[in-house]
Amino acid sequence: MPIPSVPAPPSRRHYVTTAIPYVNAAPHIGFALEVVQADALARSYRQRGFDVRLQAGADENSIKNVHAAQSLGIPVAELVTLNAARFLALKNRLGLSYDDFIRTSAEERHRRGVERLWTACFARGDVYKRAYRGLYCAGCEQFYKRDELVNGRCPEHDAKPELVEEENWFFRLSRYEGRLRELYARNAIVIVPQTRRNEVVSWIDAGLEDFSISRSAARARGWGIPVPGDPDQTIYVWFDALANYLTALGYGSDGDGVSQWWTQAASREHVIGKGITRFHAVYWPAMLLSAGLPAPTRILVHGYVTAEGRKIGKSTGNAVDALPLVDELGTDALRYFLLRHIRSTGDGDFSQIRFRQAYDSELAGQLGNLVHRVLSMIERYCDGVATPPSDGFTEADELLRAGASLCDAVDTHIEAFAFDRALDDIWAFVALANRYVAEAAPWNLAGAAASQDAATALAGSVKLRGALFSLAASLRTIATCLCPLLPETSRKLFEKLGSAGGSRGEPLAGRRVAAGTPLFPRLSISSRTP
Ligand SMILES: [Zn+2]
Repeated sequence: MPIPSVPAPPSRRHYVTTAIPYVNAAPHIGFALEVVQADALARSYRQRGFDVRLQAGADENSIKNVHAAQSLGIPVAELVTLNAARFLALKNRLGLSYDDFIRTSAEERHRRGVERLWTACFARGDVYKRAYRGLYCAGCEQFYKRDELVNGRCPEHDAKPELVEEENWFFRLSRYEGRLRELYARNAIVIVPQTRRNEVVSWIDAGLEDFSISRSAARARGWGIPVPGDPDQTIYVWFDALANYLTALGYGSDGDGVSQWWTQAASREHVIGKGITRFHAVYWPAMLLSAGLPAPTRILVHGYVTAEGRKIGKSTGNAVDALPLVDELGTDALRYFLLRHIRSTGDGDFSQIRFRQAYDSELAGQLGNLVHRVLSMIERYCDGVATPPSDGFTEADELLRAGASLCDAVDTHIEAFAFDRALDDIWAFVALANRYVAEAAPWNLAGAAASQDAATALAGSVKLRGALFSLAASLRTIATCLCPLLPETSRKLFEKLGSAGGSRGEPLAGRRVAAGTPLFPRLSISSRTP
């Protein structure tokens, strides 16, 4: 008997990537923002039952690394190994859950994949050689047109580009203008926020020119991946770096990683900073189309982080290192500040004072205090056991209704790349729960429950149990919603609620809870200002 054909189920796989940073210096707070955002998105997908691959890495084949190593007097390979290790060290310190970290200079799988991508574009007739003369910013690793410069200087680096004249390989970007326009017209590639999408569409509408994808091996000082069949040329670092999203999936070998996590994934999502939108939203989709692969489905663009109101940079001497902040106040304190107080798609400022204020007032005060008060009262008045109220207790309905819709709202915000709004919603709920504590005044209900009058005592006891159980249920809702954003806090809160696993469906009734030590110890007065 023939087996009836069943349509393949829709893919439940989401591929989420961070950009791979230049590793010419140690990671600063702006990079921490990006990896924490990508991590929260990936964790949210996982929490909702999807299969997720979170990809990160280091962009090492840049001429910037050659310069940085030269000024330190060490070999380039040594410098990039050292700095890649510093980026890798962020994994545990920032609570990152990435599945893979690729190093573009050190790994054979990357080189083989880049060569394959080049060869695929070449076979399509999209790679050709011609003489070129242009203004090149080594900081950006890109050519600029005169009208893109600001007072003759690079808009990103405020540096004078050098005039470069050589024969290079070019990618036939102009051929993909129509297809890119069509992809954006039908939202096959979504860019968040909309303003960045409009910017990309206007670039495409202005006309796309072919771009150089190689440079002379001499100018690259022999660092980077040689052009297949033309060893006097080195593959342009952006062609090389963008390819990491495929090479990490085994594009250079025969595995099925590319079909699983790219071609047939439910989504292919790149989290990037606004300065590299053109590479990801114009060049990269065109390269993929040329190689016969689908474009990314979403490009999620964050802004820039300033420190104390000033642009972060080695030259300005105010590069904020993320690790001492984690040492002082913990991983989740930094994740919280970055996810809530830097607008997810806008520019934001990191300041030591605001970081400490947010910690003290919002984490230690609003959330920490709620958790500690509620659990201490359950210990004191209910022998530490979350005891459900009898039927007919309706006084916490408003709180419970707000809790019931919170997690879906948070999921929606996170998927929309609005971590700030997700945390705003959670903290609005924390405020509601704190108001409920004040209104229900369980300490008064405990007094009534101890009354000599049997009717008063019964009514008091019902209300006391109802109020505290509703609050415990609210804490569990908070723990669930915080899981992708502040994973360590979520885990600790679930433990306090007697449920180490932390699944959404577990019954709360009868669990032994414990206030224990505060989630966020208050800062001492002396350390409130840096
Ligand atoms: Zn530049």
